[in-house]
Amino acid sequence: MKKYFRPPEGTFSKELLDNAGDLGYKTVFWSFAYADWDNNNQKDESWAYDRIMSSLHDGMVILLHPNSVTNAKILEKLITDIRAKGYKFGNLDELYASQYGVETSGYIRDNKEAGKCVALTFDDGPHPEYTPQILDILDEYGVKATFFVVGENAARYPEIVKRIIDSGHEIGNHTWSHKQMNSLSKEQIQKEITKTQAFLKESFNYSPVLFRPPGGGEYTFAKETAESLGCKYVLWAWRTDSKDWACPDAESISQTVLSTVSEGDIVLLHDYVGGKSSTPRAVAQIIPQLLAQGYSLDTVSGLLSRGSTRSNLQGE
Ligand SMILES: [Zn+2]
Repeated sequence: MKKYFRPPEGTFSKELLDNAGDLGYKTVFWSFAYADWDNNNQKDESWAYDRIMSSLHDGMVILLHPNSVTNAKILEKLITDIRAKGYKFGNLDELYASQYGVETSGYIRDNKEAGKCVALTFDDGPHPEYTPQILDILDEYGVKATFFVVGENAARYPEIVKRIIDSGHEIGNHTWSHKQMNSLSKEQIQKEITKTQAFLKESFNYSPVLFRPPGGGEYTFAKETAESLGCKYVLWAWRTDSKDWACPDAESISQTVLSTVSEGDIVLLHDYVGGKSSTPRAVAQIIPQLLAQGYSLDTVSGLLSRGSTRSNLQGE
């Protein structure tokens, strides 16, 4: 048996991986996870089941927690149905020895070799009020960020899209209508991604090189589709998620980000929310604090191009 190591919460630095390696441990992350450990926030069982089943692929490492109420209800069915699809379950030794290897990578959440740099990302916009406010703050500090736009909103507020591009920020594709990938057929997923890509190209001569799925799941087909259009499939350092879409106050958002962020992280925020957003005010707190701590801020593509690109994949 090899010796395996997994850091709590999946938080790691190059130093930690090096140390584990020196002690003879191989660090293994996962290729699929959902917040099953959070029993206070469980979605229903069929949601969890569908997410796992729709993500199945060779060499996959699925992270589950024994305390999960949902898992206890679906585990037996999962095992039966995964076997019925022709998959075998193996331990990590067997998986490493197999032709598939251990797939715990491919989902970009950070770039640990970027040094003291962070990428702020804003999803779901543009929004007529909040996006310009955020752009004003970014301008004030002279920093660049990435906006994962929803095609429908981009079509509604093209002048804001133009301002984002003209200001030197990056735009990523966040589907056309923000539907959850696991509720769609393959054809629908393709359409959701290609429609936004085509709209941005036709309207602004802009071709995004980043794609982020709504909800941030690890969906193999969506990833393949995005990659076929030249887009990297980008998630975020999940520790930093302030759930700002649920409209907590600005202090709560900035506190979550500032207390969890580390070098090379991609940080998730939202410029479009349904209610009264505190995100612009939070951004006005986060940016000066990060700069004061010696971080530089960059677009996602800028962050990923720093250092070696190998370690921006989990599991490396
Ligand atoms: Zn979104």
